[in-house]
Amino acid sequence: TYILSIESSCDDTAAAVLENAKVLSNVVARQAIHEEYGGVVPELASRAHQQNIVPVIDVALKKANISRDQLSAVAFTQGPGLMGSLLVGTSFAKSMALALDIPLIAVNHMQAHILAHFIDEEGFDKPDFPFLAMTISGGHTQIVKVNSFFDMEVIGETTDDAVGEAYDKSAKILGLPYPGGPLVDKYAQQGNPKAYAFTKPKVPGLDFSFSGLKTQILYFVQKNVAENPDFIKDNMNDICASIQYTIINILMDKLKLAVKETGIKQVAIGGGVSANSGIRGTLKEAEKKYGWKTFIPKFEYTTDNAAMIGIVGYHKYLEHQFNDASVTSKARIEL
Ligand code: ATP
Ligand code: FE
Repeated sequence: TYILSIESSCDDTAAAVLENAKVLSNVVARQAIHEEYGGVVPELASRAHQQNIVPVIDVALKKANISRDQLSAVAFTQGPGLMGSLLVGTSFAKSMALALDIPLIAVNHMQAHILAHFIDEEGFDKPDFPFLAMTISGGHTQIVKVNSFFDMEVIGETTDDAVGEAYDKSAKILGLPYPGGPLVDKYAQQGNPKAYAFTKPKVPGLDFSFSGLKTQILYFVQKNVAENPDFIKDNMNDICASIQYTIINILMDKLKLAVKETGIKQVAIGGGVSANSGIRGTLKEAEKKYGWKTFIPKFEYTTDNAAMIGIVGYHKYLEHQFNDASVTSKARIEL
């Protein structure tokens, strides 16, 4: 089975070709245009997708050495995401499936961040059901009980900002370009995580909150810059390390509680923030410390990519879960 998959939910245009659960090609065109605006501009994202989608798909097919008529199905991201961005991938997938007369498969982007763990990849184990998945990304922060491929229960989620947003907004306060998450991570690796103390929010149960932390960081930076205009420049590594330390503690506290409440000790992470070196290291340590079995995605399957859409497409293909041409993009969909 050969699946062509298309991802266009936000600002990256991506296409992949899978042979069963194996990735033959995984191509991403990043949109640098948003950097100068300090965030994703939906109008520009949509236009860039329109420009990128044909070449990205061509490259994905070429790299996989697969021709269009060998394809078994076309999978695409239905949502959640930016409407104008989703529409480009949806329309393209529809017309391709129609022209090639092959099944069309709509994929939930957040399921894909989780099911990326089922891609065949040397050195990477696949979780057994049920397992816990913490999806930490630009738009979501959830703890999900994954009972089977398509039976997922959200048992905790953010009540305000997503953790990726907390990273990006903190980075913006520090004058770093968008998306700032990877930069905070980079500086944090050189800094002292206990240089500054930020308080963790008190949120009941398995839910999260990150907007208070952002405000705390803003006031902290403003106060210190008023005393020393070079405060950020002089202390970038320590500030980033302290922010990262706080965020990781917040995430780990909830994850530990989720394991305790469900009794499930298989723990996976997914989404853009699962690229973070601190969270990856801390989770790895949890294997020895708490006896968990942890699943950390290969780096290229953390931030938005089409391979993860393809693996969901493949499992839907096996179950004959197809869509007809009346399927529409959805800015919001539940797991
Ligand atoms: P969603 O998946 O919720 O719809 P999205 O698709 O926009 O949101 P992703 O591409 O999954 O988000 O993740 C992007 C986020 O990951 C950004 O906020 C980015 O800053 C963050 N991120 C990427 N790498 C790192 C890193 N090394 N450390 C911290 N954050 C990171
Ligand atoms: Fe995403």
